[in-house]
Amino acid sequence: MSNKRDYYEVLNVSRTASKEEIKDAYRKLALQYPPDRNKAPDAEERFKDISEAYAVLSDDEKKAQYDQLGHAGFDQRYTTEDIFRGADFESIFRDSGFGFGLRDVFSIFFGDRGFSQREIRGRDLGYELEITLEEAANGAEKSIEILRTEKCDVCKGNGAAPNTSPKPCPRCNGEGRIQSTTRNGFGVFVRVAQCPTCGGRGKIIDKPCLKCKGSGITERERKITIKIPPGIDEGYQLRLAGEGEITSEQGSPGDLYVLIHIAPHQHFKRYEDDLLYNLEVGFAQAALGTEATVPTLEGNTTIRIQPGTQPGQIIRLRGKGMPRFRGYGRGDMQVRVDISVPKKLTTQQRTLLEQLAKEFDENIRPKGYRLKL
Ligand SMILES: [Zn+2]
Ligand SMILES: [Zn+2]
Repeated sequence: MSNKRDYYEVLNVSRTASKEEIKDAYRKLALQYPPDRNKAPDAEERFKDISEAYAVLSDDEKKAQYDQLGHAGFDQRYTTEDIFRGADFESIFRDSGFGFGLRDVFSIFFGDRGFSQREIRGRDLGYELEITLEEAANGAEKSIEILRTEKCDVCKGNGAAPNTSPKPCPRCNGEGRIQSTTRNGFGVFVRVAQCPTCGGRGKIIDKPCLKCKGSGITERERKITIKIPPGIDEGYQLRLAGEGEITSEQGSPGDLYVLIHIAPHQHFKRYEDDLLYNLEVGFAQAALGTEATVPTLEGNTTIRIQPGTQPGQIIRLRGKGMPRFRGYGRGDMQVRVDISVPKKLTTQQRTLLEQLAKEFDENIRPKGYRLKL
């Protein structure tokens, strides 16, 4: 069980309070408990509580989750960083005449490790992968190679040459930021700015690592295994969380998005979960009925062509299509019957067809007739 107080209680609003009411309640309380970490530790605690409650209740999705799950369930799903991601503090403090925003609220929560570095989530990467229809049907594991930036493996990301280590920045005492306190009619506010000496890193590197030139980040070729779920379709995008780039030494990696293309197949076209196959049979076969061999994903199978089968008629092979993506069962195979018409005839064939035409009372041109154009 969580021992946190109910967010609505913290802001002293009802469960049906509107967005504006929530914002107003927070604004009033924030001015009552200004975030002064040096002089009033209680106020800081209170400020943290109300800011967290506001971050959740001002966000439709988080509010809905909180309403549904309560504290215990909500806290399992969201880290403190998640809670604050995207929260709008700027407009509240701007309206009140302060230059105080999310970054500053973050610095109060996360202290010395700093918002600026933690905030930086690395770049997402994209990759286009072509697979065969069989791989799409059965699922597959594919290996790809991507070039991405990662933590430098020589210095383990700290940027210093082997057997040396970075020193804390003397100007900011390793905090990466410099604080100044301002006092005004509403209270005492702490302004935080990035340290210009160390550029916010909080450390000074005398002998930089040669591989990453002190940045702690290097580019690397990486082999990544991708699991293709059965039934995947053209244009689907798989997300591999955390397989993107790291772009700052304390930041988290971005994601890798793999866009799936399915190579054209020699036999089949795909329509949703069905496979389409064109079968050519002769006129006599279609009229008299026959058996025909057709390919499936599992190899050849024999199907019956009923006497009197018409051009364009579809024969459905149940369950011989693609597996349903993230579902159960499979689509069908649709065999479309085409009637092939011979382009050249032997004398014997011609004679037989002419007899047949006569039998059907079909009008045909006599031999040697030239169509006048
Ligand atoms: Zn390095
Ligand atoms: Zn510094």
